[in-house]
Amino acid sequence: KLHNEVQELKGNIRVYCRIRPFLRGQKETQSVIEYIGENGELVVVNPSKQGKEARRSFKFNTVYSPASTQAQVYSDIQPFVQSVLDGYNVCIFAYGQTGSGKTYTMTGPEGASEESWGVNFRALNDLFRISQMRENTFKYEIKVQMMEIYNEQVRDLLSSDAVPEASMFPVNGTADVLDLMDTGLNNRAKGSTSMNERSSRSHSILTIHVQGKDIKSGSSMHSSLHLVDLAGSERVDRSEVTGDRLKEAQHINKSLSALGDVISALAQKNAHIPYRNSKLTQVLQASLGGQAKTLMFVQLNPEVASYSESMSTLKFAERAS
Ligand code: ADP
Ligand code: MG
Repeated sequence: KLHNEVQELKGNIRVYCRIRPFLRGQKETQSVIEYIGENGELVVVNPSKQGKEARRSFKFNTVYSPASTQAQVYSDIQPFVQSVLDGYNVCIFAYGQTGSGKTYTMTGPEGASEESWGVNFRALNDLFRISQMRENTFKYEIKVQMMEIYNEQVRDLLSSDAVPEASMFPVNGTADVLDLMDTGLNNRAKGSTSMNERSSRSHSILTIHVQGKDIKSGSSMHSSLHLVDLAGSERVDRSEVTGDRLKEAQHINKSLSALGDVISALAQKNAHIPYRNSKLTQVLQASLGGQAKTLMFVQLNPEVASYSESMSTLKFAERAS
C-alpha cells in the first residue's frame, strides 16, 4: 500500500496542515480552529463574524491537531523519505507565519531530545538506517549541503568560501550531520543581532544528496532530498517599515509568491511552470514537479489574533491541493 502511495505522488503535491498548541504561559484564548476531521478536513471560524458566514472549511491530505507528536507526523511522510534511496527526488517544506511551528516541524525545539526531533533528523536517521540494511546489495554515499536564501542571495552555511555552488560534505552517520548542522546554524546567526529574527526572514535549505550503486549490476543513481524551512509568510505593513526591513519584506514576498505560482501551476498540470521568478524556485527546480515528490507542511497558529494570517496561509495551501 505504501509503495502505491509513493508511486501515486510522482509529480503531485501533498499538503499537510499542522496546528501548533497554545504555548505555556500564553493565555488559552479561544481557538480559531473549530473542527479537525480524520479525513483532512478543517473548519476555521472568523472571530469577528457569527453563524454560518463565519465558518470556512478546507480539505488537505492530513490535518494534525495540536496534540500530534513529532513521531506521528514523521510516520506519514516516512515512505517518501525512504523513496529517495530508490532514486526519487523529494522536497519537503514548511510554510507559515513566524511562530506557527515551521522550525518545530522541520528541526524540533531548541536542544531537542530524540523524542522531539523534527523531520530533518528523523529523515537522516532513516536514510542511514535503510542504507545499512541494504549494504549487501547497494552502496550508498550520502552528502549534505546547507544554505540560506536571504534577499534573493544564496549563502552557503557550511563554508565561508565564496563559490557559486554550496559545498557538499560527505556524512557517515547522524553524529556527522549534527556537527555540520551546528556549524550551519552558527553561520546563520552571524551578522544578525538575533538568530530568531534572521531565521524568520530567510529560507533555509538542507539538502541531502544520495548516490547509490547497485553492487551486482554496477548501475548507479543519484537523488536528493530538500528540507526547507521557509521565511515567515506574514504580511508586513508597508506604512510601518522602511529601508532594509522593507527590502527584506519585498524579497520574501516575491519568493513566496513565486513558490505559490510554481506549486499552483504544478497542481493544475500546466505545461509551463514559472521556475525562473525567484532564487528559491530556481534552487528547488529539480525537486519540484516532473518525477519529484513535493510535501508541504502548512503551519497554523490557533490564536484569534492570528486569524487573518492563518487564512492567508490556508489560501496559499489551497492553491496546491
Ligand atoms: P516558526 O519557525 O514558524 O517561527 P517555531 O517552530 O519557532 O515557529 O515555533 C514557535 C514556538 O512554538 C516555539 O517555542 C516552538 O517550540 C513552539 N511550538 C511550535 N509547534 C509546536 C508543537 N507542535 N508542539 C509544541 N510546541 C510547538
Ligand atoms: Mg523558525
